[in-house]
Amino acid sequence: MRKFKTESKKLLDLMINSIYTNKEIFLRELISNASDAVDKLYFRSLTDSEIKISKDDLAILVSFDKAARTITVSDNGIGMTKDELDRNLGTIAHSDSLEFKSENSETQGEDIDIIGQFGVGFYSGFMVASKVKVISRAYGSDEAYSWESDGVEGYTIKEAERESHGTDVVLVLKEDTDEENYDGYLSEYKLKSLIKRYSNYVRYPVQMEVEKTRELPKPEDAGDDYKPEYEHYEELETINSMIPIWKRPKSEVSQEEYNEFYKSDFHDFSDPVRTVSIHAEGSFSYDALLFVPGRVPFDLYSKDYKKGLALYSSNVLIMEKCEELVPDYFNFVRGVVDSQDLTLNISRETLQHNSQLRAIAKRIEKKIKSDLADMRDTDREGYEKFFENFGRGIKYGIYSSYGMKKDELADLLLFYSAKQEKMITLDEYAKLMGEGQEAIFYAAGDSIDRLAKMPIVSTVLGKGYDVLLCTEDVDEFCMTAMADFAVPDDDDPDSLTAYPLKNVAGGNLGLETEEEKEAAEAVEKENESLFDAMKEALGDKVTKVAVSTRLSDSPVALTAEGPISLEMERVLSSSPG
Ligand code: ADP
Ligand code: MG
Repeated sequence: MRKFKTESKKLLDLMINSIYTNKEIFLRELISNASDAVDKLYFRSLTDSEIKISKDDLAILVSFDKAARTITVSDNGIGMTKDELDRNLGTIAHSDSLEFKSENSETQGEDIDIIGQFGVGFYSGFMVASKVKVISRAYGSDEAYSWESDGVEGYTIKEAERESHGTDVVLVLKEDTDEENYDGYLSEYKLKSLIKRYSNYVRYPVQMEVEKTRELPKPEDAGDDYKPEYEHYEELETINSMIPIWKRPKSEVSQEEYNEFYKSDFHDFSDPVRTVSIHAEGSFSYDALLFVPGRVPFDLYSKDYKKGLALYSSNVLIMEKCEELVPDYFNFVRGVVDSQDLTLNISRETLQHNSQLRAIAKRIEKKIKSDLADMRDTDREGYEKFFENFGRGIKYGIYSSYGMKKDELADLLLFYSAKQEKMITLDEYAKLMGEGQEAIFYAAGDSIDRLAKMPIVSTVLGKGYDVLLCTEDVDEFCMTAMADFAVPDDDDPDSLTAYPLKNVAGGNLGLETEEEKEAAEAVEKENESLFDAMKEALGDKVTKVAVSTRLSDSPVALTAEGPISLEMERVLSSSPG
């Protein structure tokens, strides 16, 4: 058989310039490699008693030199021999780390978090560097070697010096161009923020020498005009927080810790009202940590708002806001999902299979729903506040799915009860329905006060039936989309009775008795000429003038015929487009 030939130069160019949409991920890739190198040494130390390494000694150091235009990522991990430098950094798309992971996945009880798998991440350095130099000394060897390349023709390997085991990857940054400011990476602030963003949960410390300032002690003989003096000094600081809080069992994390994590990672100043964690195990395992905010994000209803959860794979950030993980009606949920089993795209910026995301999303949706239902039942005050904040989106979810989501979401709704003068669920409404009541009544308008004064509302209440007073523009659409609400029968919980949701302002409610109907017909006949005259006088403003059995205290009411009430017509005509 003949072997495929590759044009290495072209392939490398593709690797470097076509895979990634975002140049700044080079640091994520180099730190991931350093973490893998350190992890490998740690793993070997578990099985080889000759290796005396404590986990606390293992670390990654990021540094930069403005004058030399270099960024260096160093680790004291397993290092590479001359052969390994040649094989691992000279073979595109060969991942030694992936092999290590599969070889050790069964022999080790301890979970293994090796990040590498595609054998291309290293070359992402060439997106920002004109030259990459690697100096490495393998653990157990007393020789060090350097590997050097400009990412175009090839590479050279030479003998080098390194004090102990580990690897330094030195990037010599490209010159600035009109489009690209490579210089921008040469700052403590920029590097710190990239580490925090992509590598915050890498399991080993990622450190930097950072500049600090301190006040010098005041001299004993200082006079009244003493001005404090300062000195600058450098201090090694661990930039990443390391511990992925979502991997820890819920029982071991305090609510305060969750709150702190939420506030700092999602930039909110108030505590979340709910914290939900999921630990899914099996052939496809993942951890998720979700939060329901305590207040409405200022931009929730703006076009710029992006829903979604942060997606991590092996503790490294893949996507900041993965939209597929939450449905629109739970767009307020913040949180993270982390899985080692995701089939990542080679750039690690997206996934290959959305079916994995769909499966996670399904579970998340269910879990949020049941958590909200739990809050509704155990912390009613909190739930009412939640609903005030985010209920609109849930109603919109029912409406925009044409009622398809009714079964999932209807239980979460709250409406104002005219009879009980508080927020109630549809279920609570149904439980208090009187004998013979065949529908759930609601009225829609712009304020509770005005609705409570509607003649037809008094009439229905007068008959002993409760009326839900709906004041949000989406309410009536939501009710219309649901059409009915099913409740288990008292004597047989398995069988459901669906009660239609009826707008008291629309059409015939079927509430009048036979006598009332006959009496109304009689009045209508007697006054036929009067009504004709009224219709003539009002012209196009009305379609019909008729006697109503729907009024109790008021002499007259305006109503609409057909499925749409006057209020809904008003909303429709006021909404743009
Ligand atoms: P991947 O990480 O997906 O395996 P990379 O292109 O990032 O692919 O790296 C290729 C290989 O180079 C790794 O599998 C690893 O064996 C080796 N390597 C890269 N960086 C280091 C390092 N800092 N220390 C030891 N080995 C390294
Ligand atoms: Mg890698």
